Amino acid sequence: MKRIVGVGVLGAVSAALVAVAVTAWVGVLAGEQPAESANQAASATSASPPVRYAPPTVGVADGVNVDQAEVSAFVDRVVQDPRGWRTDLDQFTVRLVQAGNEGTQRMPGLIGYANPGQRTAAISDEAWTVLGPRFAATGGTLDDQRAWVVLHELGHLLGRPHQECPGAGPAPVMRETNYDLRGCGFNVWPNPAG
Ligand SMILES: [Zn+2]
Repeated sequence: MKRIVGVGVLGAVSAALVAVAVTAWVGVLAGEQPAESANQAASATSASPPVRYAPPTVGVADGVNVDQAEVSAFVDRVVQDPRGWRTDLDQFTVRLVQAGNEGTQRMPGLIGYANPGQRTAAISDEAWTVLGPRFAATGGTLDDQRAWVVLHELGHLLGRPHQECPGAGPAPVMRETNYDLRGCGFNVWPNPAG
């Protein structure tokens, strides 16, 4: 029923398009993969190509009780998310460190610290395990906080500077340190529209 309606609509356009539609329809009757489905799959792939990046080295400092495999899986997920940086990344390292070490501070201070020269993002274990009061106040979750600190520090490794809240719309992921919306809407992604 749906296909018959489709051919009827196409009948109003050029003869060439009708010929293509009929060919596709015949293909369906013959049990082949419908051409339109194949096209949709191709365009979905090209619209959101996977980010190419060398798997990050994930380190967990002494005294930090965080599962390394879990951190690796989480970092991989946010890097590949369509709302992420959508840019290829060189090799980088994520280190879970005790709050206060390697440039980090205790919350609500610097919960992550990027060292672009060493291509390393240090993340405080506190940021990974304790939902900070400012995130909690926005309704953000611990996973939001983790995603934000990973993506913010990755932004620095990509050379991105801090950004102020423009006054409306989603908060830029590169706004400065510890989650302060300053009038913007809650957001932890570089490309919130995906
Ligand atoms: Zn920063």
